[in-house]
Amino acid sequence: MAHGRTTQPGAPARRLRLLELSPATLTVAVLALAGADWGSQLAGDSLIPGGPLDEIAHLLTTLLVFWAIGSRARARFLVPAMVASVAIDLDHIPGRLGADWLTAGTPRPYTHSLLAILVVLATAVLWPRRRDVLLGVAIGLAIHFWRDMAEGGSAVSLLWPISYHPFQYPHGVYVAVVAALVLIDTTLCVRRRRTVGHRGGWRMPAPQSENL
Ligand SMILES: [Zn+2]
Repeated sequence: MAHGRTTQPGAPARRLRLLELSPATLTVAVLALAGADWGSQLAGDSLIPGGPLDEIAHLLTTLLVFWAIGSRARARFLVPAMVASVAIDLDHIPGRLGADWLTAGTPRPYTHSLLAILVVLATAVLWPRRRDVLLGVAIGLAIHFWRDMAEGGSAVSLLWPISYHPFQYPHGVYVAVVAALVLIDTTLCVRRRRTVGHRGGWRMPAPQSENL
């Protein structure tokens, strides 16, 4: 049986503990997300501090989603999804520098669209060796666009170039869904602690019976 501290040749690198679901990481993530989301709402469209706060909120939203959907998906897709959920906003740089070739007629750059996800998914089909990374990127983009649509004052032209229509929904809906995710994550935490406790309980009698 492989234990956490055992290093085996060829074993996958141990994931960062900060990305593991635990009462401590969940508490920190929820508090940080609440602060970042609230702050980004107050900061509006400002580059500083609005930009960093918004990216922190994107990162933590992706983490809460992956904590809720299970360890297998987490192992395969979490890191590329988290990277993509922040990196996609690099497409705002040309607009911030005054060039509108990536955003003429839409509230956000054209790369904030379902077309970007489709391109990544098509690449995943054509490049099987990097399928998990690319699927993670696609999931990260989807989560990012979903949060962007809840930001007041700016929407997402999801269907570009077919349509320039900006899609948006109330921020309260985003908060409600995140609250549901936190509830799921909390339940998983509690269940895991109970499972560990039960394992400990079953292990205790074994040495005693052997001694007898
Ligand atoms: Zn964005």
